[in-house]
Amino acid sequence: MSRASAGDRAWAQRARRARTLRAERPHAEPLLSFYLSLLELQAPLCDPTDATRWLQAVRAPDTSDLPRLQLERLPLDELSPRFGAFCQGIPETAPEPIVRAARTVSAAGRETRTDLLLALLTGSDFQTPAGTLGCDPAPLAFLPRGFLSPLAEALSDLVTLSGSARTPTCPQCGWPPQVSMLDDEPDALGTRRLVCALCATAWVFPRSVCPACGTSGDEGLQFHVHDALPHVRVESCRTCRRYLKSVDLRVLGLAMPLVDDLATVELDLWAAEQGLEKIAPNVLGL
Ligand SMILES: [Zn+2]
Ligand SMILES: [Zn+2]
Repeated sequence: MSRASAGDRAWAQRARRARTLRAERPHAEPLLSFYLSLLELQAPLCDPTDATRWLQAVRAPDTSDLPRLQLERLPLDELSPRFGAFCQGIPETAPEPIVRAARTVSAAGRETRTDLLLALLTGSDFQTPAGTLGCDPAPLAFLPRGFLSPLAEALSDLVTLSGSARTPTCPQCGWPPQVSMLDDEPDALGTRRLVCALCATAWVFPRSVCPACGTSGDEGLQFHVHDALPHVRVESCRTCRRYLKSVDLRVLGLAMPLVDDLATVELDLWAAEQGLEKIAPNVLGL
């Protein structure tokens, strides 16, 4: 099996799951339709040939260093025209603030686009570039994230994940977790994995520990389940008031955590009503 077929299959599986959820959950239809158009733009970016070429530049010098990838060392200036094309490809059916930001960024200079890619990878604030370009920070940050995420995923696929890393952020790229997942494994029932918000790596993390602040026990996680969604629950922390969703693959093996997270907006709305803040908003900003 080649790397390309593994990557292509992951993209096809996400699209299939998004189409299933769109049919089952009509209220999530606009969101999932936009996500499907995003997947079409992202799939060709996940190129294993490019990733192999860039790996040398971004791999951490020592195999014990975490995160394993230093993505801010990607050739961002070389990527800038491709990022421009990605922005141009954002369809008119996207949410209006994203369409506006995409048109602005594709018309901007190469250097502006390079700066936006670097801002995302260094965790910089988008307020200043948003002010300069005359758009909102959230849709502006969506663009480099949507563009860089498939590249990060392709690079992550090339680096062996250290089995012992039980870090609260992604051992491959350093981003926070998007979603949590539970599954039975031959040697460990109910193993919890966190799934990275940028590179989609899944890594093992203790079940009872809050990934945002490290608290466990009575002061740590509590769980909220919605009757209509038995396979997705909200894991929120009593101490830091952050949350993420957990997708239980033992209840629904067909679920795909990153996609099911997008399709269950009602849980995010419920969490916002409780005054909870998501550890990492998903790619659509929810
Ligand atoms: Zn990652
Ligand atoms: Zn916490």
